[in-house]
Amino acid sequence: MQKHRATALHYDFRLEAGGTLRSWAIPKGPSMDPRQKRLAMEVEDHPLEYASFEGVIPAGEYGGGTVMVWDEGHWAPMDGGDAAKAIDSGEFRFLLDGKKLRGSWPLITTGERRWILMKRRDEYATTVDLTATEPRSVRTKRLLADIARDGGGDVKTAATGDPKRRRST
Ligand code: MN
Repeated sequence: MQKHRATALHYDFRLEAGGTLRSWAIPKGPSMDPRQKRLAMEVEDHPLEYASFEGVIPAGEYGGGTVMVWDEGHWAPMDGGDAAKAIDSGEFRFLLDGKKLRGSWPLITTGERRWILMKRRDEYATTVDLTATEPRSVRTKRLLADIARDGGGDVKTAATGDPKRRRST
């Protein structure tokens, strides 16, 4: 799961299947609360190597902006079997074993590349908003603004994707 401050902030959810990364853009990011359904727009497959990309995409290029590896780990369809077939069926449940996102999730298409991602009720379900409480890179612990700064990107714009800084009193 990459956090991407491009034209707008979104999360890019990527599942390895059939030798590629099947990909969805989630405008609001994932929620561990089973009552929160999240729109996930299916986008083009990405090469496997892209899963570890963290850095700055130059302005003017597709997806120009700042990319963070927000979470990573393993996944598997609940029913076992072929991962690509499960996704192609348009409705499947899967297990996530990430550093942040865990447990069982359904992903269901409603057509026109629109999917709905939600957390299933299990021991990992919580109303805690992990996108707020765990805003840093799972790989480098950096915020988006740090990644932009290190990569010579637009720090100010990237920072709008980070949590508001708390003022010390
Ligand atoms: Mn993106």
